[in-house]
Amino acid sequence: MADAPLHVVELARHTDTGRVRDHNEDRAYAHDELVAVADGMGGAAAGEVAAQLAIRAIRQLTGPIDTTSLRTALESANSAIRRTAASDPSKQGMGTTMTAVAVDNGLAQIVHVGDSRAYLWRDGELRQLTDDHSVVAEMVRRGTLSADEALQHPHRNVITRALGAEPDVVVDATTEDLRPGDVLLLCSDGLYTEVDDAGIAAVMRDLPGLDDAAHALVECANQAGGADNVTVVLARVGYGPLQRSARPDSSGTTQEHPTIDGAAHTDRPPAAAPAIGARVLEPAGAGRRRVSRTGLLIGAAVLVVLVMIGGAWWAISRSFTIQPGPGHTVWVDQGVKLGPIDLTSTWQDTGVPVAAVTAGQLSQQLGSVGGEGATVHTAVNMVWANGLAPIPSITAAPTPPTHAKTGG
Ligand code: CA
Repeated sequence: MADAPLHVVELARHTDTGRVRDHNEDRAYAHDELVAVADGMGGAAAGEVAAQLAIRAIRQLTGPIDTTSLRTALESANSAIRRTAASDPSKQGMGTTMTAVAVDNGLAQIVHVGDSRAYLWRDGELRQLTDDHSVVAEMVRRGTLSADEALQHPHRNVITRALGAEPDVVVDATTEDLRPGDVLLLCSDGLYTEVDDAGIAAVMRDLPGLDDAAHALVECANQAGGADNVTVVLARVGYGPLQRSARPDSSGTTQEHPTIDGAAHTDRPPAAAPAIGARVLEPAGAGRRRVSRTGLLIGAAVLVVLVMIGGAWWAISRSFTIQPGPGHTVWVDQGVKLGPIDLTSTWQDTGVPVAAVTAGQLSQQLGSVGGEGATVHTAVNMVWANGLAPIPSITAAPTPPTHAKTGG
């Protein structure tokens, strides 16, 4: 047995919608030597679609997995999310975090984008293995904010990188030597914004069984407020046979989300939705019989109307307004109001407190956002660019500061 390489011997995962949100946009994966957490964002059901696309990209990996293959998978997920968003206005601006760890040959191979974390639990101590790609984490690294202040900061949920946000994604990768008994702990921010590291460590110390620990951690987050979806994945390494303390997961899919309507449809391949133009052109090109002059005129009129509807739809999808939203933060709504007709939908929480914005600035039209520029961060950037809230120093660049690390 001692000759066998160190591998995963126990797996557990648990996720919950929390006590405030109405659906769960987190996705988790725990299968053999690969574990991952994705925390989706975007209006309607878009966040869970993005998270599911990210999980699917790593599920497709075979053979020994290292940071190179994981990085490639995250880059392909980035492209898949952007393709899907481009083909469906309701998915515009969606994105997701992704933290994934593969155990291979005694090493933890770690990649991440965004603020979902990987920790190492070893000898009764918890150590964070990933650096959050978030506004507050950047400020802590620069020494302009303490770790405690970061937990209360109004921008604590604003991330600086996400899959789907930009055409090219910068994936952080690192490896960590593992020892028998080590536990890898992956989680979405719904855990660590409610339960600090000492609280997480206390649960890990009290509950040696990983399934119990995963459930207890989620319960702790909910008892502390449960303001966000919360997800925990645990993997212990050693030399024995693999125990799966979570429910059987034969498909490797994220079956712990049975209550999510979108779960089934998100497993379909992306794209496939025909563009408006394609649907319009099809009858016009299908000339199996002679078409009368009147028929041609009617066809042309229908074409014009469809093009106008398509244009209006396009314009609506690129119109944004800021409004006070749940949690006393400023939300960006997508769409327009035409007199009594309300064509808006909630799109993105900026994290900016309503109190920081003067009343006259709420309901302000933020202007259009072009296709490539419409990212999960655009809403926040628009709020800052319009001078509606105090601007953290790292986001003061005149260009959209999506990648604070490289732009600052
Ligand atoms: Ca979250």
